[in-house]
Amino acid sequence: MTKLRLAIVGAGPAGIYAADILLKAERKFDVSIDLFDHLPAPYGLVRYGVAPDHPRIKGIIGALRDVLDSGRIRLFGNVHYGRDITLDDLKNHYNAVIFATGAVRDAGMAVPGIDLEGSYGAAEFVSWYDGHPDVPRDWPLRHREVAVIGNGNVALDVARILAKPADDLLVTEIPENVYSGLMQSPVTDVHVFGRRGPAQVKFTPLELRELGELNDVDMVVHDEDFEPDEASRLAIETNKQIFVLNKVLNSWRTRPRTGASRRLHLHFWAKPLEIVDDGTGSVGAFRYERTRPDGQGGVEGTGEIREVPVQAVYRAIGYFGSPLDEIPFDRRRGVIPNREGQVLDDDDQLVHGVYATGWIKRGPVGLIGHTKSDAMETVRNLANDQANWWIPSSADEQSVIELLDSRGVEYTDLGGWHRLDQHELGLGAPAGRGRVKVVDRDEMVTVSRAGDVAVADGADGPDRAERVGSIALT
Ligand code: NAP
Repeated sequence: MTKLRLAIVGAGPAGIYAADILLKAERKFDVSIDLFDHLPAPYGLVRYGVAPDHPRIKGIIGALRDVLDSGRIRLFGNVHYGRDITLDDLKNHYNAVIFATGAVRDAGMAVPGIDLEGSYGAAEFVSWYDGHPDVPRDWPLRHREVAVIGNGNVALDVARILAKPADDLLVTEIPENVYSGLMQSPVTDVHVFGRRGPAQVKFTPLELRELGELNDVDMVVHDEDFEPDEASRLAIETNKQIFVLNKVLNSWRTRPRTGASRRLHLHFWAKPLEIVDDGTGSVGAFRYERTRPDGQGGVEGTGEIREVPVQAVYRAIGYFGSPLDEIPFDRRRGVIPNREGQVLDDDDQLVHGVYATGWIKRGPVGLIGHTKSDAMETVRNLANDQANWWIPSSADEQSVIELLDSRGVEYTDLGGWHRLDQHELGLGAPAGRGRVKVVDRDEMVTVSRAGDVAVADGADGPDRAERVGSIALT
C-alpha cells in the first residue's frame, strides 16, 4: 500500500485538526505524519492567543491532546521552518506539506501617530500575557487611561485583561511576571472604540457579558450611540446574536455606577483619525471622527472630531499572517494564495505538494472550531492529488531525525511536551492553580529534553481510524 509521508508545519488547532481528519479518513494509502512547530510546545493560539481567564476555550487543548496522543503523529517542536528545515529538506523526506502557521502578527493601521511610544498591537500584548517565549518579559503597564481600537473579541480580551484586578487572574496559568506587571498597573479608564455601531460589532455575547461581571469595574456606555438606523433595527430583530448583544449593551445604559476604581467605556461610531503626540513622542490622546450609518451597514464621517486623553493605545483590528520561506504569499491579505487549500503561485498555477489550512489559508477570522471544515477541504484535495505528490529520496522516518541531529537542532518531541506539561502543572499545584506557564524558551527546551528524546513510534500506536470510526473525504 502506498504511504503518504506528510509534514505539517504549525502545531496549533489548524495543523492538529488536519492531521486528525487525515488519520480518520477513508483512504487507499497509509499515512505517517510529522508535525513541526517553531515553538517548543504545541497548540499554537490556544496556548498563546486564548486569554488565560477563558478556561472553557483553553479546554479545546484536551481534544487536541487526544489527537497528539493517538500515537500516530510525531511532534517536532522548536524547529524553525526556513532555518532548521527548508522546503528542499521537506521535498527530500516527505510526499507533501501542509502549512498551518496561522496569523499571529497585528494588522497594520495607517493613522498618524501609530508609531508613538505607547502605541501597541493587541497581538503583542496577548503574547505577553499568555507567556509567549519570544516577546519581552516586561510590558509597560504605567498608564492610567488607555484606548483599545476595535470591536472584535480580541479587543474585549485586551480591555478585560487591562481592567481586571490582577488578583482575579491568579487562579489562571498566568506567569509570575505577568501577574506582577498587572498588579502594578495604575489604569483607571479603558476606552474601547468601534468605528461602527452596537449592531455591527464583531464580538460575541458571552465575551461581552463577561465585561459587566468584572470586580471593581464600572461599565460606561453613551445614550447617543444607541439610536439604531433601519439596517441596525433589522439586524437586531433578525439576528439572535446581535439581539442578545444589544440587550446586554442596553442594560448598561441604566446600570448605576458603583464608584469602582476602574471604568470600562464603550464608544461606538468612532473612526480613528490620529494617535496624538503628547509633545514628547508618546501617546497623549486618541482622536476620532464621529460616524453615522450610511444605510448599508457601513458608516460615513460626520465631520465632528473628538479627542479622548489616553497615554496608551492598543489596536485590536485583526491579525495578519507572516510569509514563509519559498512559499507564495499574498502581501495584501496576509495569506498563502490557494485554491481550496492547494497553494497557487503568482500565475495562479498549483504548486504541487504544498497545501495550506487555517488562518494562513483563509485569513484571521472565525472561531477555532471553524478550522475543522477548513482542514477537511485541504485534506480532501491532498488525498485526491496523489499523482502530484513529491517523490522523496529519503522517505524513511528515521532520516529526518538524523537530519535535525546533524544540524544540532534541539527539537522537542511529544514525550518532551508531556514532561513540560507535567512540570507546569507541578508549578501550579502548591498555590492550588491548574498550571503556571514556563515562559523562557531555553527553560522550556531544557525541561522538555530532560529525559530521553524518544519520538513516539507511529507504527506502535493504535489505529485511530478503527477507534473513532472513519470519515469520507469525497
Ligand atoms: P475581528 O473579529 O475581525 O474584529 C476586528 C475589529 O477591528 C472589528 O470591529 C473591525 O471593525 C475593527 N477594525 C478593523 N480595521 C479597523 C480600522 N482600520 N479602524 C478601526 N477599526 C477597525 O478580529 P479579532 O478581534 O482579531 O478576532 C479574530 C477572530 O478570533 C474572530 O473570529 C474572533 O471571534 C476570534 N476570537 C475569539 C475569541 C473568543 O471566542 N473569546 C477571543 C479572541 C478572538 P469593522 O467590523 O468595522 O471592520
